[in-house]
Amino acid sequence: MSSLQEPISFDTLPTLRDVSRLRRFASSDCSQRFDEGESGNCLAEERACCSSNGCIDEYTGDNFPWRRRTRDIFRGEPLHSRNCHSRKCMQISDRICDTWFLQDRQYSVPCADKEIRDLTNKFLRGIPKYVKIVEVGPRDGLQNEKAIVPTAVKVEMIQRLAASGLQVVEATSFVSPKWVPQLADAKDVIDAISDIRGVRLPVLTPNLKGFEAAIAAGAKEVAIFASASEAFSKSNINCSIEDSLSRFCDVTDAAKKLSIPVRGYVSCVAGCPVEGYVPPSKVAYVAKELYDMGCFEISLGDTIGVGTPGSIIPMLEAVMAVVPVEKLAVHFHDTYGQSLANILVSLQMGISVVDSSISGLGGCPYAKGASGNVATEDVVYLLHGLGVKTNVDLGKLISAGEYICNHLGRHSGSKAAVALAKKTNQFS
Ligand SMILES: [Zn+2]
Repeated sequence: MSSLQEPISFDTLPTLRDVSRLRRFASSDCSQRFDEGESGNCLAEERACCSSNGCIDEYTGDNFPWRRRTRDIFRGEPLHSRNCHSRKCMQISDRICDTWFLQDRQYSVPCADKEIRDLTNKFLRGIPKYVKIVEVGPRDGLQNEKAIVPTAVKVEMIQRLAASGLQVVEATSFVSPKWVPQLADAKDVIDAISDIRGVRLPVLTPNLKGFEAAIAAGAKEVAIFASASEAFSKSNINCSIEDSLSRFCDVTDAAKKLSIPVRGYVSCVAGCPVEGYVPPSKVAYVAKELYDMGCFEISLGDTIGVGTPGSIIPMLEAVMAVVPVEKLAVHFHDTYGQSLANILVSLQMGISVVDSSISGLGGCPYAKGASGNVATEDVVYLLHGLGVKTNVDLGKLISAGEYICNHLGRHSGSKAAVALAKKTNQFS
């Protein structure tokens, strides 16, 4: 096989540094300014750049004597200057052309360059450097599974999620077993995970009774949930929005006395299965009420997953006008495949807390057809792709997802997990 027929492998490709150096030395980098007939300093710089081309010619051989001549003419130097030490010459040329390169970019494409910079700023400026993920799979996910998962499996699932680096794992719910039999073992779960350190393990409490039971079981943090839709509130928690808010006041008052942090959920922020459209002002009202009663964080939930960036942006704008952005979280379901797009615009608007569920487990028993929460693996993949830190080990997270999916006998709802698992199998 001749050298031309040999495949190029990675180790035969020039290093990036070499490529960059060659590009800087390429005449096209220099010629533009020259062709545009710049005078004064610019022209002087052009001459220096041409001389650098001469230098590289000299370095690689005497193939282009006309270029050396050009250099000599420009610099007014005698031909013996060709004998300069090639490495030193390249270093000098490198420095000159570095400067030139930047100047050229500014000079030749000032508008496009600025526009691109502005565009990048526009899209990435608001995105936080660190995003806290609130894993809701053991509660929001499992409460919607038909099968009742044994306590030991739930505990192992929570332990695996905690080991992946997640900061917050919502562990269970102290609701009536009559309504959610899947989580009837809440007390046992809390008991079994009491030795997990370094991870917050909140539990859902619908009222004072649930709160007291949670605290008695050893919960250190709780969550309450209100709806932005009157009809959904009545069908989900059997009371009006106002009644639910006054119930939650009892919970937050009791929590304050015990210094227990309370997280607030607002459901149906982008639409309701009964009412349909939910105005952003209604979401903002409920969010502000929860904030005022002492919730340290308000999670805005698109319970049925109907929102798109077109409806999420105005909703967030309305809420951010009354609750500080750093106190807000987003909670998207993926019914219409919009959750990652919705998360991205939320990040761009400055939200730094995202709820998600391992392998996309979940749904909503009161909203027929609503699919699971956005998958945690997909959220982590997105965030890491954006250069956002999460503290989560994606490999460990995927293995936690495989564990629960194997137990449930279902496929993962995470596209990233499926794709990465295929890749791993392919190369193993
Ligand atoms: Zn949810």
